[in-house]
Amino acid sequence: MGWDEIPLRQQLAAASADATPTLIVGAGIAGTTLAQLLRRAGRHPVLIERSSGRHPGYMLALMPMADAAIDELGVREAYRARSVATNRYRVRSRTGAVLRTDPIAEILSRYGDYRGISRGDLLNVLTTGHAPVTSGTTVTALREDPGGVRLTLRQGEREIEASFAVVVLADGLGSTTRDLLTTATTRVDTGWGGWVVWAPADEATDLGEELWGTDFILGTYPVAGAVGVFLGGDRADTGAGREGFVARVRRQVPSPGPRAEAALEAVLADPDPYFWPLTDVRANRWATGRTVLLGDAAAGFLPTAGIGAGMAMESAWVLARLLRDPHPTGSADGGPSVPGLLTSFEARQRPRVEAAQDNSRRLAHLMFRRSRAWAAVRDLVARRVSVARALGPIRELLDDLPSVD
Ligand SMILES: Cc1cc2nc3c(=O)[nH]c(=O)nc-3n(C[C@H](O)[C@H](O)[C@H](O)COP(=O)(O)OP(=O)(O)OC[C@H]3O[C@@H](n4cnc5c(N)ncnc54)[C@H](O)[C@@H]3O)c2cc1C
Repeated sequence: MGWDEIPLRQQLAAASADATPTLIVGAGIAGTTLAQLLRRAGRHPVLIERSSGRHPGYMLALMPMADAAIDELGVREAYRARSVATNRYRVRSRTGAVLRTDPIAEILSRYGDYRGISRGDLLNVLTTGHAPVTSGTTVTALREDPGGVRLTLRQGEREIEASFAVVVLADGLGSTTRDLLTTATTRVDTGWGGWVVWAPADEATDLGEELWGTDFILGTYPVAGAVGVFLGGDRADTGAGREGFVARVRRQVPSPGPRAEAALEAVLADPDPYFWPLTDVRANRWATGRTVLLGDAAAGFLPTAGIGAGMAMESAWVLARLLRDPHPTGSADGGPSVPGLLTSFEARQRPRVEAAQDNSRRLAHLMFRRSRAWAAVRDLVARRVSVARALGPIRELLDDLPSVD
């Protein structure tokens, strides 16, 4: 498991044997899933990644729409071994009292697995087998020509010119390569943000829990061997620093219980916690000629429905199916060209992904507010509305999973 770091020229040489040489920019969840699926289909996509070090990682709860990719890669056993079942989801009120505990895995069981895994472990699982990547590499220029896409790749001070028949931009929510296209984006900024850290594992490895305070949210989500923590609030409040923010939480909820206490301690103890500004992004167009956006670069999610990675893997699976054996310019029997396939990919996936994103936005509206009166209303709503109902739009997507023959 794990990537095989190899020089760019080696990947370029292998790709040149393919009928439709393909570049994937960004070895995150979407890019890695796509690259590995194409490799299993006998293709040699070039996978590049800007960062050179290991990603610090965070917790992911993975919805069943990821299952098609996991199964096609033949890594379900490894996935189960490196993750934990998230059977229960609990919401606590602004006073710390339990509002409800829902059997979330049972609600989702007819669709497949619902499990907690760290991003690093998921990438390790996805890179089971041969997984070439070239790190420290990005794209600085991109031009669509009639027969292909001409790019400038940058490695440190070095620039390399290359051409590809297909280019997939999968460089995440803060994508910079998206700016090389004429694609417009819209964003929702909740005004909130928070710290993401790891706390020690406890015994309730199957329990995801959120405490919805008057002006903060404390979420704790188990993975194998640890509990992922998110402590967030309005950036006007978090801006003063974590010591003051944690003190504020403790004043509101003096006895939050051992899990939450350990989480607050972990926020204070982390020497350099990741601060996550809760904004999202939506590109108004995914496919431009032979270039296509994938994953968070196409639609990056707010965390409220915990579905960004699931949708990124689903989209990667659909794209891999469409790109398994494309004809560079369209086949004699009328099969679509690469631009036609990418347009078809966008037509299939964009409505699904944007529906999931809309659901995350609506939940954000409920969760990220700073008002005593609203918190009281929200506690009432949370008592009455089950997780099954809150996830209604996501279940509709799961009822109608994509199929590509
Ligand atoms: C704290 C946190 C918790 C989350 N929790 C959940 C959850 O519970 N469930 C869920 O489904 N989703 C969750 N998400 C969302 C999920 O992580 C994303 O939706 C998913 O990672 C998207 O995959 P991606 O490949 O598009 O982007 P990423 O996984 O972000 O990968 C992008 C990759 O591109 C690389 N890159 C960036 N710029 C360049 C460049 N210019 N050139 C080359 N490479 C570049 C990056 O280094 C990175 O490796 C969470 C996100 C965060 C931050």
